[in-house]
Amino acid sequence: MEKGPVVIIGAGPAGLTAAYVLSKAGIRSVVLEKDQTAGGIARTVNYKGYYFDIGGHRFFTKVKSVEDIWKEVLGENLLRRNRLSRIYYNKKFFYYPLRPLNALLGLGIWNSILIFFSYLIAQLFPSKQEDTFEQWVSNRFGKRLFKIFFKTYTEKVWGISCSEISAEWAGQRVKGLSLMTALKNAILKSQSPQKNKKDVIKTLIDEFDYPKFGPGMMWQAMVESIEKKGSRVCLGKTVEGIRWAGNKVEAVEVKQNGQIDLIHGTDFISSMPIREALQKFKPGVPNEVLEAANQLKYRDFLTVALIINKPMLFPDTWVYIHDPEVKVGRIQNFKNWSPFMVPDPNKTCLGLEYFCFEGDDLWNLPDDELIELGKKELESLGLVDRKDVEDGTVVRMPKAYPVYDSTYRQSLDVVRRFLGGIDNLQLVGRNGMHKYNNQDHSMLTAMLSAENILGADHDLWAVNVEQEYHEEMKIEPSEEAALEKILPAVFSRLDPFGLATAIGSVLGLLIFLATAWVVLMGGPASAYFKLLNQYFFGYTVTMKGALIGLAYGFSWGFLLGWLIAYLRNFLIAYYIYRLRRKVELLTFRDFLDHF
Ligand SMILES: Cc1cc2nc3c(=O)[nH]c(=O)nc-3n(C[C@H](O)[C@H](O)[C@H](O)COP(=O)(O)OP(=O)(O)OC[C@H]3O[C@@H](n4cnc5c(N)ncnc54)[C@H](O)[C@@H]3O)c2cc1C
Repeated sequence: MEKGPVVIIGAGPAGLTAAYVLSKAGIRSVVLEKDQTAGGIARTVNYKGYYFDIGGHRFFTKVKSVEDIWKEVLGENLLRRNRLSRIYYNKKFFYYPLRPLNALLGLGIWNSILIFFSYLIAQLFPSKQEDTFEQWVSNRFGKRLFKIFFKTYTEKVWGISCSEISAEWAGQRVKGLSLMTALKNAILKSQSPQKNKKDVIKTLIDEFDYPKFGPGMMWQAMVESIEKKGSRVCLGKTVEGIRWAGNKVEAVEVKQNGQIDLIHGTDFISSMPIREALQKFKPGVPNEVLEAANQLKYRDFLTVALIINKPMLFPDTWVYIHDPEVKVGRIQNFKNWSPFMVPDPNKTCLGLEYFCFEGDDLWNLPDDELIELGKKELESLGLVDRKDVEDGTVVRMPKAYPVYDSTYRQSLDVVRRFLGGIDNLQLVGRNGMHKYNNQDHSMLTAMLSAENILGADHDLWAVNVEQEYHEEMKIEPSEEAALEKILPAVFSRLDPFGLATAIGSVLGLLIFLATAWVVLMGGPASAYFKLLNQYFFGYTVTMKGALIGLAYGFSWGFLLGWLIAYLRNFLIAYYIYRLRRKVELLTFRDFLDHF
């Protein structure tokens, strides 16, 4: 059957990538986007010539095919940028990821001593329960560091107390990293000559790619390329209904001028939030599926962009605000992302990020009050004098974060089972799959969905599992296979009884044979052997004494062997434990960057 048109819901990174890949393969598609701008959450807003993102979007990936598309679309307009981001706490800047000396100096001697003791207490008497985020972090860093560097910001982002956030969420990136992987990393770090892993870590944390005029430039260029090849990207078109029958979607309903239009296609790709997609099925989906979809939750987000009449405020690309007295969570300084983001180099455009829920007090504040709030908070933080703020605007972004709460996985399973029965609909992207993903993962799922339409058989839901990477470390499959064999051998447990018996037998036999030899051969050596009597009560240089020596040798050897095995097993276990902790801390190092 001839393919096309393919109907794609959403012109964010995922929807556009699907259309881009299809158009290159000669398959027509129509992309339906409810907003007047392409780019979804990764869009760039242009306010009077000042460009700003919803957040600030670093382009980094280990997925080569995604990187290839970025380069193909933007070429030289994709700039390599240095990253500087710090935590602002107590009117002081702290490098992030944390640098111990800088943190200690900034916190002061007295505070540092208290932090050290709090860390020590956590190491010696860790909380036995590790159910919550608070317990998880406190066990690793101590309560005091937790309060200073993790509590406030995390609570601002999620709107709930850290004692209500599950530890699973904190450790999910770490948990995905098996002990095997931890060991592999430790071993490969010193063995791999071609690639210094530390450099890889450094690169990903210290540098990133960024389009000259912000990410919107990427999506605009993609739209142009898609349309040049004969497909369409329709802005301002909200999908209001998904018509289906049997195991197929037949069309989507789009509202236009008060009228409902039907858009037909052979295949459908949706990147709209999965909860809304399920609500729009016509006829409606079974009750339990709808109920499950309705359980999926989101955290929303708004940016107050302020234009400030100063050429330079701080050198950071962004600053985390850990001060509990203000609501702002993070401040982006867009001209440090790219100097082309401001039309006048004497001005600065800051993006103040507020995490909220759609419909709450903050979300509902009128724009001018939000701008006032922004000015007031900047001044109270001591970062900007309010009289230097010239202008401002507000952008609200609903459903910025899919929430991983205690029920989301179960609900998603129900929804996925239902969708598995529909042959020509694929869900892609962040909210499309309710996956807390970066752009590259959204794009990858979209690329694979396009390939499926071209005849491949990718499981999009497996992308995160199979393609999951930790930005800091990735093991090549060949290395992995080799280590799967080596590690169990290297780190296998020594059997104490076995080693004890072996050493006992050898020592016992040695004493027996040596004594018997001296008894039979005589000579001056017998005087030395007599001295053994001081240690082995009842031992003599006779054949009977040889047997007594055998028993003593075996007993002492047995004890020694058992001790050696026990100590070696203990040290290996401790080494593995320390490795695991080290890897945990490494993967946790840029934790705040993942919101
Ligand atoms: C604050 C913040 C910072 C981030 N920083 C980074 C970063 O540094 N690097 C990075 O790689 N990623 C970052 N991300 C993540 C990135 O924004 C997302 O991964 C990416 O935008 C997801 O793309 P998507 O196409 O899957 O979804 P979206 O971007 O959500 O696109 C979905 C599109 O569907 C449209 N839509 C919804 N409903 C309908 C409907 N009924 N009809 C028609 N259209 C509809 C929406 O309007 C939207 O345009 C950040 C996210 C946030 C919130």
